[in-house]
Amino acid sequence: MLGGGQLGRMFTLEARRAGYRVAIFTDEKRGCPAGQFADVEINAAYDDTAALKGFLGQVDVVTAEFENIPASCLEAVEAVKPLFPGSKAIFTTQHREREKLFLRDQGIACAEFRVVSDLAGLEIAVADLGRPCVIKTAAFGYDGKGQCKVTAETDLAEAWRSFEGHRAVVEQWVSFVCEVSVVGARARDGKMAVHGCVENQHTHHILDVTISPARVAPEIVDQAIELWEAVANGLDYVGTMAVEMFVTTDGHVIVNEIAPRPHNSGHYTIDACVTNQFQQQQRAICGLPLGDPTQHTPAVMINLLGDIWPAPTVHPDWSPVLNHPRAKLHLYGKAEARPKRKMGHFTVLGDTIDEALEDALRLRAALGI
Ligand code: AMP
Repeated sequence: MLGGGQLGRMFTLEARRAGYRVAIFTDEKRGCPAGQFADVEINAAYDDTAALKGFLGQVDVVTAEFENIPASCLEAVEAVKPLFPGSKAIFTTQHREREKLFLRDQGIACAEFRVVSDLAGLEIAVADLGRPCVIKTAAFGYDGKGQCKVTAETDLAEAWRSFEGHRAVVEQWVSFVCEVSVVGARARDGKMAVHGCVENQHTHHILDVTISPARVAPEIVDQAIELWEAVANGLDYVGTMAVEMFVTTDGHVIVNEIAPRPHNSGHYTIDACVTNQFQQQQRAICGLPLGDPTQHTPAVMINLLGDIWPAPTVHPDWSPVLNHPRAKLHLYGKAEARPKRKMGHFTVLGDTIDEALEDALRLRAALGI
């Protein structure tokens, strides 16, 4: 596993449950969330070729839990061991410009955009797309980082300053009724299994609440799943993948972002699906048949950010969640809480989605979120 965060941790738990041994390669410090459960934890920079060689000598197959891995590292891995998803899928989706061009090439619906590299280009793009629109850095952006909304009042020269020297994608502003995502897996033989379409609510650009199943019409679910399949096939994808989408006010679904890995909006699958997103990742990369992705119980997931920790090493009082008979608390074993840091999540099950949502929001309020 390349990467040592919570996604790697939940993968490692599932892989070990299935009898596999796991080695983690991460630039995080020793004892990272995934390393706590791994058989082997190697802590080195992604361009440390000697350390990488040592890691590759111990594994049969490689996957990743985040996409911002240098291309040189992906190529070094792929030269000696199978990498799933492959470097093409990771390379395409780690960079917004490449991701958007891939979507355009494949004819997959997404917001209209222009690629710009200087202020003159930005001025033309904004004139073309109209205001509001949004500037997003092409490389290494996540959770809304490296984004700037251009409104009627925005001075473009000032807005461009933080993008100076970089390439950026300017996107038309999408008028949406809700944001949804589809998480699923594609096996080595091309068979696909999606968990369904979930509804996501963000706060300060970070996922806050996932409601599953999404409260949208069946046609919207069909469109969302078709888009997921088009992306998975277009990338010749192997492993678990998430596609985040907008449901537009005129009833269409368009792709916002692709995550070449399990996703925060798929954490509910651990408690609410027959086979969860991490089990699917492990099955896919090991060349095994995928499991049944069906959701058996309506569920709502709430993220736990470091903001609610009273001090970096002092946990909140979890009793509201622990006392709820159908709430499941997941903590990521991070040594210290920091504002906006993803520390854990909880999932609430219900007989109906309204019941799960009502209970989850009550618990959320009890925790002071
Ligand atoms: P992203 O990092 O691209 O996922 O963007 C973070 C959040 O900003 C999204 O979840 C949306 O809520 C919002 N956003 C991003 N792009 C657009 C857009 N083109 N139109 C409207 N809202 C957007």
